[in-house]
Amino acid sequence: MKAVSMSFGQIANAKNGASSLQKSRAWIELDMENLRHNVRALRSLLPEKCELMPSVKANAHGHGAAEICRELNNIGVRAFCVASVSEGIELREQNIEGEILVFGYTHPESFPLLRLHRLTQTVIDLEYAEKLNAFGDTGTDRKMTGAGKKVAVHVKIDTGMNRLGEPAGNTGEILKMFGLKNLEITGVYSHFYAQNENDRAHRAVTQRQLEKFNRVMAMIEENGHGKPKTHLQGSFGIFSLPGLECDFARPGMALYGVYRNNGDAMNSNALRPVLTLKARVAAVKEISAGDAVGYELAFVASRDMKIAALSIGYADGLPHALSCGKGRVLVAGAYAPILGNICMDQTIVDVTGVENVRQGDVAVVIGRDGDEEITAYDVAEQAGTIPNEIVGRLGSRLCRQKGTYLMSDNQT
Ligand SMILES: *Cc1c(COP(=O)(O)O)cnc(C)c1O
Repeated sequence: MKAVSMSFGQIANAKNGASSLQKSRAWIELDMENLRHNVRALRSLLPEKCELMPSVKANAHGHGAAEICRELNNIGVRAFCVASVSEGIELREQNIEGEILVFGYTHPESFPLLRLHRLTQTVIDLEYAEKLNAFGDTGTDRKMTGAGKKVAVHVKIDTGMNRLGEPAGNTGEILKMFGLKNLEITGVYSHFYAQNENDRAHRAVTQRQLEKFNRVMAMIEENGHGKPKTHLQGSFGIFSLPGLECDFARPGMALYGVYRNNGDAMNSNALRPVLTLKARVAAVKEISAGDAVGYELAFVASRDMKIAALSIGYADGLPHALSCGKGRVLVAGAYAPILGNICMDQTIVDVTGVENVRQGDVAVVIGRDGDEEITAYDVAEQAGTIPNEIVGRLGSRLCRQKGTYLMSDNQT
């Protein structure tokens, strides 16, 4: 990470605000005004007492967790969710403040890291709760970790997704967790999984999940364990049940302005994309009919063409499935189809008829250029996957820096 990521402080010191990272081969520009806009939009949908606890797992869904969280800290966001302890530690090392909840399984040998870095662990079932509780009794690393202090946890309730969590019907198991003396249970949560707010069957599933969850919370209170904080909504849940009275909501994709289809609620709520992905034009060549392009004879020209090699490849997260014309990029404001197979570090595109393309120019892979736009959703559709996977796999080799997402007239 350190070798490729620069702090915004360093960027600000670069001349004229233009970062030296713009000399790089491929990079991500983050529009922080659009991020702030999305935060305002999501906050306005939620009840006043419901705070954002953004999902910043997988390097903030590929956007750059340190950069995104620092901006969110600046505008008062004080809680985050990550997938693993190592992601949480990375945020602490960047001085990110507030509660950091680890969604996933943490190996018992890593339990000391939870207290050391003030991370909140998800209790994924009773068996796991008991392991965490037993760790609280060990004093072997008293100095390092403040052993003897309770372990901060949120309890995950499985309301039907059948992924992590103690099943909602297991009331005995759930109550037992509250009796474990070394756990400090500050939250109880679940996750909506149906994800299509326009579909009745999906909405009915969501409603059943909510009923199960509410019964668990009532049972916890009736048994004298008070009212731990609650959260159920990712991006989908915010749009399908905006009025839900929870303490937190955990948006990921909505916060980054990445929508799942062209008619979905995020789009109609005018959330704005935060990320633009750019790559350097490394070479421009004229080729003749019969010439091959790239590996495997996957493309052989049937006419004279002008082509450009871009400094981005599948190791940067550009899906190999976009090879051979399935995908395209923007060069000088025009669509340039991908020729042949995408390489690990390079991609060759067709710029026949595009004027003024030179070595050192910049191509837009995701984002706008002039009147044209390629969204993460477009790329996902061309690659036969979902936009979450496209942004989530954007590589660690890409630099991340502040920039401006060009908006079209009807978006602004
Ligand atoms: C990834 C994740 C989220 C965020 O999901 P989006 O659909 O990107 O908003 C929220 N909650 C849990 C448990 C997750 O795993």
